[in-house]
Amino acid sequence: MAPRHFGFGAPVDPGTGTYARGVAGPSPLHRRDDTTAAVTREIVDYVVDRMAMSPPPLDAPRSPTELAAATGTMITPDGLGYEQAFALFREVLAPACISSDHPRYLAFVPTAPSEAATLFDLVVSASSIYGDWWVEGAGAIFAENATLRWLADLAGFPEGAGGVFVSGGTAGNLAALTTARETWRRRHGRGQRLAVACAPSAHSSIRLAAMVTDVEMVTVPGDDRGRLTGPALRNACAAAAADGITVFAVVATGGATNTGIVDDLAGAAEVAGEMGAWLHVDAAYGGAAMASTMGRPLFDGVERADSFVVDPHKWLFSPFDCAAIVYREPKLAGAALTQHAEYLETLDATGEWNPSDFAIHMTRRVRGLPLWFSVAAHGTRAYDQAVTRGLELARAAARMIADAPHLDLVMEPELSVVLFRRTGWAAERYQEWSDAALAAGTAFVVPTVHDGETVFRFCFVNPTTTEDDIAAIIAAMG
Ligand SMILES: *Cc1c(COP(=O)(O)O)cnc(C)c1O
Repeated sequence: MAPRHFGFGAPVDPGTGTYARGVAGPSPLHRRDDTTAAVTREIVDYVVDRMAMSPPPLDAPRSPTELAAATGTMITPDGLGYEQAFALFREVLAPACISSDHPRYLAFVPTAPSEAATLFDLVVSASSIYGDWWVEGAGAIFAENATLRWLADLAGFPEGAGGVFVSGGTAGNLAALTTARETWRRRHGRGQRLAVACAPSAHSSIRLAAMVTDVEMVTVPGDDRGRLTGPALRNACAAAAADGITVFAVVATGGATNTGIVDDLAGAAEVAGEMGAWLHVDAAYGGAAMASTMGRPLFDGVERADSFVVDPHKWLFSPFDCAAIVYREPKLAGAALTQHAEYLETLDATGEWNPSDFAIHMTRRVRGLPLWFSVAAHGTRAYDQAVTRGLELARAAARMIADAPHLDLVMEPELSVVLFRRTGWAAERYQEWSDAALAAGTAFVVPTVHDGETVFRFCFVNPTTTEDDIAAIIAAMG
């Protein structure tokens, strides 16, 4: 039988399992030799180059058919070898992924990981730290908890607050609403028709969480800016009660994804308190602004919430994926969400802080560590400055839009989202412009719908975006 090839053509003798180069071993996957040393350097060089690109290429998606033609068969019994597989990523796959840290990526919610956080993500990847239980990940969990404490302090949560880093705002919202429902049931029993109340501007993940937890939704009409307010919440909950529906949880949004508007958190806290309902603040996108001296006043009232979610992978400069769910009383989450099994009993008995108990998951990457490293290295003042830059860019863009004859500002920005219309354009023209700008590699800006009208939307989180970038995009819409 001919020797089989693994990786860079290092032959292994199938009879003895020994390699022509490197050490003998049962797993070619774990071999370390000159070849893997060269590959290590090549990959580290790639990482260093990618991080140094400013800006990185914007890139654009391709269809599955095009990608299949360009890659050929990728998964084979004998493997392509490191070189060919990595070349496929570099030359075909990576260019078919939009770089969400590009300074002219202003669609959806972009990202802009700090150098420190990106570097530390590599350390986390190489460290095989199990992030579920204190006994296994104590040091890393301690650092994550210190970082969660910083976020809790920004919100004004009391001592004893705590939570866990999860994969995203969606997972955090589901954990919070599940905890809220279980807490309600423990206090009030079962058998009621339960509902979560929120404004129409609440994120789609709230509807999903309501579906998963099998509760209804009470939609509270927003004010003229779409905000949830105390009086409207009180009315909607009274109307629901008259129909036999009990609101057990209120979700207020700390920065609506489409508009960047922050709900009246103090008003929501007031009414949730009257009803004995759980108040969850979904600040997945906007919660970062609590770190900004300029943005923090918008969040007055968040200190009265029972839980909040903020996504460091959105506007706190962490790589994907990283979202924080923080509870005022984490033991309520533990009571609702801890998994019990015979083989876990030794872990449950210790009374230690086990992050697996505070969301719907078990095995977890210590995904809060890149944020910890970046905040620990740079300090919180640097975060204030970098987040505030997003607020300033939105205000600069609003002024430029107001001054541009072909554009209308839809509303003054509150956080870092700016909505505006291109006068005279129908919905299709917006999309054509957006597609062409992406294809040309100049910008990623997509239309959205606001009050039934197609408009453009900028979302600023990247401090490397400049006023010149904004001016160039605006000029291109002329
Ligand atoms: C982005 C967002 C979410 C969902 O967060 P993921 O991290 O994408 O799961 C939830 N709520 C709001 C307000 C958001 O902006």
